[in-house]
Amino acid sequence: MNINRQGGPHCILCRGQIPEKTKPEHVLLNALGGRMTVNHVICPSCNHKMGIGPDNDLADSVAFIRNICGFKAGDGDEPPEIRGLESGGTKLDLIPGMRPRLRPKQPLDIQITDKDIRVQVNANSRQEAEKLAKGAAAKIAKQFGRKGGDVIELIAQDLLKDSTSFFSPAPSISYQAGFGQGKSQQAAAKACLVLWAKHCGNDEVNSKRYDAVRHYILTGEKTDNPEEIVKLDTRTLPDLPERFGLHPNIIWVGSDPAGQTYGYFRLYGAIGWRIALCGQDAPVSRHVCLISNPYDNRSWALLERAENPIDHDWVFAQWETWPPDYRNVQSRMALLLKYAHAKSQDDWMANLVREGLEKADCREGDIITPGHIEIFSNYIGRALTAHILKTTVPEE
Ligand SMILES: [Zn+2]
Repeated sequence: MNINRQGGPHCILCRGQIPEKTKPEHVLLNALGGRMTVNHVICPSCNHKMGIGPDNDLADSVAFIRNICGFKAGDGDEPPEIRGLESGGTKLDLIPGMRPRLRPKQPLDIQITDKDIRVQVNANSRQEAEKLAKGAAAKIAKQFGRKGGDVIELIAQDLLKDSTSFFSPAPSISYQAGFGQGKSQQAAAKACLVLWAKHCGNDEVNSKRYDAVRHYILTGEKTDNPEEIVKLDTRTLPDLPERFGLHPNIIWVGSDPAGQTYGYFRLYGAIGWRIALCGQDAPVSRHVCLISNPYDNRSWALLERAENPIDHDWVFAQWETWPPDYRNVQSRMALLLKYAHAKSQDDWMANLVREGLEKADCREGDIITPGHIEIFSNYIGRALTAHILKTTVPEE
């Protein structure tokens, strides 16, 4: 942190003074599993602007990956739900862990005529059906001028007495992941600049030498040659310590002996952007690297001085960006999807077994009876049949 003459550190984006009481700022986004925070690098106003703009775009672009792989946020929050997907005419949401939750076409349909009342409830679970039935019961009770929880409860139970349950096959979901979309790259550039400020101090980063990248972060406007600020990198990542896994998130900043400085942001080990921070005269031959493992975001490290996981030469190298070659990105992503698929299968099976045991009212320590086995195997058999034959199977 730098205290300058006007008393207090200055924001590296707008150069405004940062109030003493300012919330810490994540270097790697919380949504990407970032745990490291810094104080007094960016002012609350710029932090807010970045949060609702570029940071939000970057977080959005990885929401699907996070959902299917079960990647938690840095603060331990669950991965996001993906809402409003469609598969073969069925609308569905994805709850974390690639678990589809179908959206019934019409959850509740009530028709009240002089002769009778028709109620149809479509739900994904017993609890959901009970909730919908209660809502319907309240409406019916009101229609007939009846009040009281008991009356509503009775009607709801009556509605549910003829209910049937089905196993539905898993819908197939296709999704196009779009990394670096929107303003994401501005968020990546900001992350690099924040890390460099943490390493060298705000005053260094507030010098005019960094004006071009600062302008880019704030506005998205690049100079005449767009590559001068951000350069896409689809090369294979050098080998890194095993504890960071195959898909690390990396923010690296380093300078050469002339003080030319590049930032480098690598997303899930798959795709990267090199960002030009400063042309010359920065503190020379330095590096700082924040690296974290999204599979277990407690595995992260800030590496400085002797430890350099990425070679300067590799970042400073020349490479062709046109035509883009996404083969390396695809093969790295394929490994990620393989992991997600295996994990969701394991979770699905574990969940099914748990439900089957519940259905059979079989608890840990119970002696297993033929009755247990019959209910359990019937339940599992029907669920597997729906899954394998891709058809709807009644629960019993
Ligand atoms: Zn600011």
